[in-house]
Amino acid sequence: MALGNQPIIILKEGTKQEKGRDAQLNNIMAARAISDAVKSTLGPKGMDKMLVDSMGNVVITNDGATILKEIDIEHPAAKMIVKVAKSQDEECGDGTTTAVILTGELLKYATELLEQKVHPTVITRGFKLASEKALEVLNQNALVIKKNDKQTLRKIAMTSMSSKGGAGPSKKLLADIVVDATIMIAEEINAKTYVDMDNIQIQKQQGGSIEDSKIVKGIILDKERVHEGMPKQVKNAKIALISAALEVKKTEVDAKIQIRDPTQLQAFLEEEESMLKKMVDKVRNSGANVLISMKGIDDVAQYYFAKYNIFVLNRANNSDMKKLAKATGGKIVANLDDLMSSDLGYAGLVEERKFGEDKLTFVMDCKNPKAVSILLRGGTEHVIDELERGLHDALFVVKIALEDGMMIAGGGATAISISLALRDYASSVGGREQMAIEAFAHALEIVPKTLSENAGLDPINMLIEMRRLHKKGNKNAGINVLNGKVEDMFKNDVIEPLRLGYHEIQTATETSIMILRIDDVIASKNTKSMPGPSGGGGGDYDEY
Ligand code: ADP
Ligand code: MG
Repeated sequence: MALGNQPIIILKEGTKQEKGRDAQLNNIMAARAISDAVKSTLGPKGMDKMLVDSMGNVVITNDGATILKEIDIEHPAAKMIVKVAKSQDEECGDGTTTAVILTGELLKYATELLEQKVHPTVITRGFKLASEKALEVLNQNALVIKKNDKQTLRKIAMTSMSSKGGAGPSKKLLADIVVDATIMIAEEINAKTYVDMDNIQIQKQQGGSIEDSKIVKGIILDKERVHEGMPKQVKNAKIALISAALEVKKTEVDAKIQIRDPTQLQAFLEEEESMLKKMVDKVRNSGANVLISMKGIDDVAQYYFAKYNIFVLNRANNSDMKKLAKATGGKIVANLDDLMSSDLGYAGLVEERKFGEDKLTFVMDCKNPKAVSILLRGGTEHVIDELERGLHDALFVVKIALEDGMMIAGGGATAISISLALRDYASSVGGREQMAIEAFAHALEIVPKTLSENAGLDPINMLIEMRRLHKKGNKNAGINVLNGKVEDMFKNDVIEPLRLGYHEIQTATETSIMILRIDDVIASKNTKSMPGPSGGGGGDYDEY
């Protein structure tokens, strides 16, 4: 910046600044480095990453979102890529690697256009047009999932889990669990289906084998009964859910009670005991044989509950309480005086069970529960953790498949179908945007290309074969990674929910556009450092 011959310096000395082309290229390089890092994990034949933190904790995963969450990233543009994975994970629970590598690839082809001196605003306009068209084609390709079509939903769950090594041969069992759990808690509101994932609890328990995993029609609490004298098992449980403490209130201010002779002390204690006993009686009179409280329970009250064979858990947390209410149909009552038999929840069985050192309480066999649990078993911590991530992805895709009722073909089929449509579309748009739309079409090929590479197949041959079949009219031709052939993905049961593909394209386009629009990177206050060389000038582009 200069006025006459006098340069005006607006930034503090030593502040790093990157401008124009340099800023852009550095950002793109950083973003692409991230997408390259996760590429090898894509698809059923993808590899896992082992992440080790400074404390020596190890995470072994294939999950894009998890990898990016765990690695320490400094560069601002690279951080934007991490957000792609995060957004994809939050909206769809799956497709994170795809969204990230698609973003990386869009930026790669954008770089080529920048090098040919196409202005970034032209590229971004072309990308926007291309993504709109892509979403249109996606919608056209999508097929309807019939209502509660368990078989299709299972295939969707299996496709999602197939890339998580841990599940292996137990995939079928887990897919059944996932589909049943999701359908059980699905709610119908104004003829629309909603699935609240909060109502599915995953309880991990190390030990046993994956095959021992199961769905529990109810809630599993990481708690044991408060008193040894209570029954370990209650059948036909009528459950009181209480948010208040069962204790004699301590005074707020420090009060002193002066007791002058032993009879007074006795009277005082008796008074306290009688108050506690009254509380216990209120629970007992409601007909409850199980009590779950969010707060503490006095020892004396515990003693009486045990005497009356009432099973009691204390200090249940808020979210477990809400799930218990949904699973058992009970009502959380704040004041014991209000407790009525109609507030009680029902479970066919409440039981404390021992797993190794841990004791868990199962509140199960509920009638028509609107919250359920999945008990996940597995040999080691790492296996269970990766299994849980796979299960999370599968639950989420089944949820959105159930909510939207639309599906698309996986295995790169949809990407190729869109890519071919975009090439036709590009020529109808013309101008320089055409180049950007073609670049977009090219970028989409990264999905089947990477799937092939990771499966040890020749990506070029696969692409050629896919294009050939698509042009012949098979819109669902994708890669069968098992036999190395290009086949109909619906026949191969490689199916994904429409929303997954939709969001992958949306978030990849938005983020690549955002990165392309940056032509100035200034280290602002509180920013530690900014990698990459600084300097360079703007105005590198042809004016459009
Ligand atoms: P993401 O994080 O994007 O979900 P994944 O590692 O889960 O990454 O891989 C997903 C990709 O693998 C999708 O393109 C999906 O269609 C594909 N895929 C899953 N199962 C198969 C299969 N059996 N054959 C071919 N492709 C598959
Ligand atoms: Mg996946």
